[in-house]
Formats: sequence, structure tokens, C-alpha cells
Amino acid sequence: MLSYRHSFHAGNHADVLKHTVQSLIIESLKEKEKPFLYLDTHAGAGRYLLNSEQAERTGEHQEGIARVWDCPDLPEAMAPYINVVRQLNTNGNLRYYPGSPLIARELLRPQDSLQLTELHPSDYPLLRTEFSKDDRARVARGDGYQQLKAKLPPVSRRALVLIDPPYEIKTDYQAVVEGIAEGYKRFATGVYALWYPVVLRQQIKRMVHALEETGIRRILQIELAVRPDNSHRGMTASGMIVINPPWKLEVQMAEILPWLHGKLVPEGTGHTALNWIVPE
Ligand code: SAM
Repeated sequence: MLSYRHSFHAGNHADVLKHTVQSLIIESLKEKEKPFLYLDTHAGAGRYLLNSEQAERTGEHQEGIARVWDCPDLPEAMAPYINVVRQLNTNGNLRYYPGSPLIARELLRPQDSLQLTELHPSDYPLLRTEFSKDDRARVARGDGYQQLKAKLPPVSRRALVLIDPPYEIKTDYQAVVEGIAEGYKRFATGVYALWYPVVLRQQIKRMVHALEETGIRRILQIELAVRPDNSHRGMTASGMIVINPPWKLEVQMAEILPWLHGKLVPEGTGHTALNWIVPE
């Protein structure tokens, strides 16, 4: 079953949170000269047209990136991410939104590399074309979870692994934990960033519990809710769970989260959370 298309959701509040965290991690990894791998297990199409039929049907970006991309009081640490959005939209109109692979492409250095996997028969060719001239990138059509076995540890022994499934099948909530455990077994020093939606809080509690059970340490949780938990109204919040976060990430998000919440949810509903699921 592959009915999920990210084009309906590109640039929504969940993407803004996810891509903020992604860019902060990349910027921290760049503080050392040594190359690193960016491994994206569920990469999507790479670039999204915000006035496409799909995007216009939901209008989700209007309550996401449209609320922050031209803010004069943007927190400094968000500049690398927002600059990628601005570079795609140089005439001042917000037309395109970069997916996680494009954000990585713009932020990575010549010595770094990208491993991108996408399963969807329509999104994969778009992604491949997007990266056809980038020697640093390998684009594969396949199951992203397999890459956690096949590509880890990386030759460079440094990596950010982004795991961002659609959760259209309930087994994704277990598959992500199993995938992380597999990856971690091979490569315990990597940075793993897992995105999750809050649709039913119980599913997230179970997923977090399963993560605790793996015995993995240094697990930071970052969450932004636009509405209170509710079992009837779709996604109310989203979050990022980061294993081995760069030391600055917690401090950066402590500043960014309240700002983001204020901009994305001017009505003030929902909440933010920043806590260690498992500390050092
Ligand atoms: N990471 C992207 C970004 O931030 O721009 C968005 C990814 S979207 C949430 C999830 C993607 O996973 C979809 O494009 C979907 O087609 C793809 N997908 C679903 N199952 C997959 C699997 N088993 N392996 C790889 N990709 C898969």
C-alpha cells in the first residue's frame, strides 16, 4: 500500500519542525572537517510545488512554512534551513518547498555524501532526476529500512540517519524501532533522527516504550503540538526523536521551540516538549 504522497503535506508545521532539527544536526556535524554520510530512509520526491493541485487541496503549508519563512525575528540557528527555502523562491513568492534531501544537498559540503531511498514509483524518478548531477548522492528505489542494515556503518564513521516514514501502515510504529535497533547495533555512534506524528497518543507511548526497551541511551524528544491530543481529528502534533544528538541541539531547541510555536500556532493551542527519553 503506497497511497501516501508527501506533496499533500509539504511545508506543513511538521515539516518545519523536522527540517529545523535536520538542519541543526547537519550544521553541528559540519563543525568537524571529517566527512559524514546523510542517510535518508524515506526521502520523498525532493522538491514540492506549493501551488500544485495536491498542495492547494490541503493548504497545509499556509499554516507551516508560510508563517515563518520571511519572519524578520527568525532565530539565528534556523537561518541555514530557511535560507534553503529562500534560495528556491528568489522572487519573494513561496512556490517551492525543499524536502529533506534538498535541504541536505544544499547544506552538505563537497566531502560529505548522501544516500537517499524512496519506494514510491512516482516520487522515486523525481528524486533521481533532482540528484542526477550530484556526485555525492546515491539514490535508490527500495525499502528504506533495509538501508539501515546495508549502509551502516558508513566508511566515514560519521552519519545523520533520518527516518521519516508515512505511518500509513500501523506496523511503521514498530518497524522504526526495529530499524533503529538494527542500525544502532552496527553503528552506535551515529546520529539517528526519527520523525513521528501524534494521531493517537497511545501509539507514540508504545513506540517510546519500545525504544526504551532497546537499551539505547542518549535519546532526546522534541515535540510541537498545534492542538491538544484528540483521537478524532487527525494529526495534532509531531515530533523528532534524536539519538546521540549533537550537544548544542537541546539548547538550540529550547530557544527555537517557543518561538516556532508562537508563529505556527498564533491561537496558542497545543504545547511544546523537549525532554530526554533516556539520558546519557
Ligand atoms: N523525508 C521527506 C522530507 O522530509 O521531505 C518526506 C518523506 S514522506 C513523510 C515519506 C516517504 O516515504 C513517502 O514519499 C513514501 O512514498 C515513502 N515510503 C513509504 N514506504 C517506504 C519504504 N518502505 N521505504 C522507503 N520509502 C518509503
